[in-house]
Amino acid sequence: MSEIQQKGHPKGLWALSATEMWERFNFYGMRAILSLFIADALLKGDTEASIIYGGFLGLCYLTPMLGGYVSDKFLGNRNCIILGGTAMGVGQLLLFLSATLYNTNLPLATNVMWVALLVIIFGNGFFKPNISSMVGSLYPESQRNKLDSAFTIFYFAINVGATLGQFICPFFGDKEYDGIRDLSAFKWGFLAAAIAMFIGTIIFLILKNKYVVTPEGVAIGGKPKASDIPDGESDQAKFSTTSIIISAVLAVALTYGLHLVMGGPGVSPIKSWLYPFIFAAGIALGYLIISDKTITKVERDRIWVLYIVCFFVMFFWGAFEQAGSSLTFIADKQTDTRLFGWTVPASMVQNFNGIFVMAFAFPFSWLWIWMNKKGIEPISPVKQAWGLLLIALGYWIIASQVKDLGTAGKVGIIWLIILYLLHTWGELCLSPIGLSLVAKLAPKRFASLLMGVWFLGNAGGYALTGVLGALLPPTTDKYQTAKANNVELAQILEGQKDPTGNDLFYLAKSKVAASIDYEKGLKNGLDFEKIFYKKSKADKDSLLTQTQYDLIQKEKIIKVAYPEFLGFQLKTIYNFFMMFVVLCGIAGLVLYAMSPLLKKMMHGVR
Ligand code: GLN
Repeated sequence: MSEIQQKGHPKGLWALSATEMWERFNFYGMRAILSLFIADALLKGDTEASIIYGGFLGLCYLTPMLGGYVSDKFLGNRNCIILGGTAMGVGQLLLFLSATLYNTNLPLATNVMWVALLVIIFGNGFFKPNISSMVGSLYPESQRNKLDSAFTIFYFAINVGATLGQFICPFFGDKEYDGIRDLSAFKWGFLAAAIAMFIGTIIFLILKNKYVVTPEGVAIGGKPKASDIPDGESDQAKFSTTSIIISAVLAVALTYGLHLVMGGPGVSPIKSWLYPFIFAAGIALGYLIISDKTITKVERDRIWVLYIVCFFVMFFWGAFEQAGSSLTFIADKQTDTRLFGWTVPASMVQNFNGIFVMAFAFPFSWLWIWMNKKGIEPISPVKQAWGLLLIALGYWIIASQVKDLGTAGKVGIIWLIILYLLHTWGELCLSPIGLSLVAKLAPKRFASLLMGVWFLGNAGGYALTGVLGALLPPTTDKYQTAKANNVELAQILEGQKDPTGNDLFYLAKSKVAASIDYEKGLKNGLDFEKIFYKKSKADKDSLLTQTQYDLIQKEKIIKVAYPEFLGFQLKTIYNFFMMFVVLCGIAGLVLYAMSPLLKKMMHGVR
């Protein structure tokens, strides 16, 4: 038995991968049609739908800390996976119900949708950290060197599921006839997602006792108990009342503090409250774990390594998840998407990511094994620094392509494909490696909770995605719409005067919302009353006065402020892409430079 296990991977890995594949099918499949459903069938409109969608995803990656805590302290991995899987399946059925009711009872359908999302958020929180940390527990101390390869296989399964789901659920759920969307089809997409989730849960129920066991046949992932714990480790986390109180206060205070920084007039509650809460919860939870009395010096060092890595990978996800927002807008508006005679729909361009993961997951796994044999395999944080540098490189290549595009040119789709290739390589150096690093560094009694911290880093990344994505400068389409409406899109610099000698106003609800405001203005027939402006940097955001409003109406001039990032104005998408090059490049280099120190703090773990 152990002879077989020594050579390949334990069978439990395949059982867990199959379970996770179906779960990701359900999650990504639902994701693909959710915002369309909310916008069109529940009549919320695009803007509200994307706000709901963003908040929903943020919360999905916030709850894993809860699921991790409950698992480590009370229920164990197995129970949490079954609970989470069932909850997600039920959540999808509720979405199915909502999508059945939308045209007969809209208020009820809307309420059912809220409950469904809530149930899915909790389901994901229970499922995701536990299935991931369980992969780690399949490997005893002596086989820890296989973890990177194991998690890469697991990651392959994640992406098979995600890619299939993103294809199948819209296939049944997003139907158009003569260019008109059939709103009654959404339910089939959600039903497909529900079925996938139940298949995953049933697979787990059936296979767990047979395969998810140690070489000696002892069940893995049961309720936490002292006998599971290697010699010398404490069996239970012991958070003192004082540190629980301090963490709670920290969470509240930081949320409020960050809210003051990130919020402001007209900023959505997601950005002004949820994002601050995600960052604050991460820091508070980090404090809580590290303040535990049972942690030894070695454990503390290792946990710090995890925190440091989590901080850096936030930049990665912030840049990577642009795939679903700004990169898709660019694919839509500023890209020539013809590929071998076929015009690729903009929303499909990001699927190259999933396809590339499937193509390269195993080669990467082999690469690590090969390097390991040669004795040249770098430690995990170095791989993750490569990941950050690869994503920077991807953005740099596309930046150099769009540099001279001007405001009307289009970039060839091939450059977006190359970008996704490099991003995927980066993802493979960073994401599965991160899961594996948690498994290697976490003391057993915190295994799932620290997996929750890892996903919290992802949630922070989503929040950063939202913040950075909003910095997209006006794209070609905006110039074109402006032209079609006979409007001059005057992009002005601070401090310039108009012909009458007044300061030029530039419209911006906040520094980050310029293009959105501009769009609103156009859509609403230049109704600027609700749009905020800033006269100079020192001015507080305030409403346009009637005179200013009249002037703009009369002159038909829309003045747009360029988004600003740390004092730099982003005037073109070249600047926008370069922002990610700089952010991820610096993050990668700093992480790389820190790696000798991290290596010491990892105390023998690689
Ligand atoms: N696609 C991966 C998954 O679903 C990673 C997503 C993430 O962690 N942000 O597990």
